[in-house]
Amino acid sequence: MKNSDKTVHKENNNAWFQRDIKHLWHPCTQMKDHETLPIIPIKKGSGVWLEDMDGNRYIDAVSSWWVNIFGHCNPEINQAIKDQVDTLEHVILAGFSHEPIIKLSEQLVDISPPNLDKCFYADNGSSGVEVAMKMSFQYWKNIGKASKQRFVCLENSYHGETLGTLSVGDVALYKETFGPLLLDTIKAPSPDSFLKDHNESADAFALKQVAKLKDIFEAHSETICAFIVEPLIQCAGSMRMYPPIYLTKAKALCEEYNIHFIADEIAVGFGRTGTMFACEQANISPDFLCLSKGITGGYLPLAVVMTSNKIYQGFYHDYETLKGFLHSHSYTGNPLACSAALATLNIFKEQNIIEKNKQLIDHMHQKLQQFKSIPEVADIRQTGMVAAIELCQNGDRKTPFDWKKRLGLKVFEYGLEHECLLRPLGNVIYFMPPYVITTEQIDHLMDVAYEGILFALKHK
Ligand SMILES: *Cc1c(COP(=O)(O)O)cnc(C)c1O
Repeated sequence: MKNSDKTVHKENNNAWFQRDIKHLWHPCTQMKDHETLPIIPIKKGSGVWLEDMDGNRYIDAVSSWWVNIFGHCNPEINQAIKDQVDTLEHVILAGFSHEPIIKLSEQLVDISPPNLDKCFYADNGSSGVEVAMKMSFQYWKNIGKASKQRFVCLENSYHGETLGTLSVGDVALYKETFGPLLLDTIKAPSPDSFLKDHNESADAFALKQVAKLKDIFEAHSETICAFIVEPLIQCAGSMRMYPPIYLTKAKALCEEYNIHFIADEIAVGFGRTGTMFACEQANISPDFLCLSKGITGGYLPLAVVMTSNKIYQGFYHDYETLKGFLHSHSYTGNPLACSAALATLNIFKEQNIIEKNKQLIDHMHQKLQQFKSIPEVADIRQTGMVAAIELCQNGDRKTPFDWKKRLGLKVFEYGLEHECLLRPLGNVIYFMPPYVITTEQIDHLMDVAYEGILFALKHK
């Protein structure tokens, strides 16, 4: 079914759109683009589907910015929130606690890699990363190693958009404007397999990049507090991927040089890479594990930073309040968000999701092969429930298309006409669907993306 085939009345959408832009300032948007490109008001959601005010439907191929893992209006998560709201909607988390957050902490410790025994909560991903950064910095200060103050991050990394997290990010689009306000950090070369030579293996390339990380540690370990990384996939950095060996080796280097390892699994945690957490594939336990996005099934803002007893002990003192971790957000550990998270973890367990997703992952892999026939497709990549296609001129990885051609945007518009929400990252078309998607819906998404790419190339 094509949305454009229906008697599409654009009146309702349009009326809402006009009211929308009168007072709303949208995130990550050049608002002037919306003089020509309408904003789509969504009326309701169900499973993978979103429906707009005119009754057009869209498969949410990007899980609404990677947060929704079990579909929109999931009955179990809906029920958990309804039950909680009549019991306790919110309470201050300093000096007080509640059942959902105690249960959630127990379960997170249970399912996460070993040695992560303590949970510190925040209310969005960026705040979670800030917590990990501040904790690492203060830990070294508390134990008498105050010179360890700098962070090492990867080229093309993304860890959020607050000033602290932009400092450890490297996506120019978000960072450039604010350069003068940011912390001085060290950028290590990325293990991104897209950058390797044609006849080089991804593992060999990753090992080469680890050697460069070692050089940085060797030169600066006295002043470095932590290394921060997005395990396996640099999501906002165009869904670039790399093999687990890099993480295994980088973690070993961190131990050798007395540097904390911060795993930012905000986007890749909760099954995205095929395992519950991406770190499992590298067989490592980070010093800090940052989680958010999928944690509530995409319902409510919540983040958690998990760390070890050893780090916790660095803050534990008689009388010395200042050695405690003095960081708080008003909505820390909100009970409604925690109950959504508990329902989400329950679905993982009861429905054996990690095992069940294997079939979807296989299916995505097979269906992806069709893109090989388009000469401008320079790379087809997949890690678990994330697949991406990168377009370059003549299919040559070294010559990207001019962004002004807006190829991704044309695929996006084509998708909307054909029941798909395929929001691209520049010239990268990607699929990061909720786990309730069916194989038929995967086929539909990928077929529409295929036709959409041909359409975009023809009209460039
Ligand atoms: C989305 C994201 C963040 C930031 O989370 P917000 O909730 O948007 O602040 C941090 N790190 C990674 C890897 C992300 O994908």
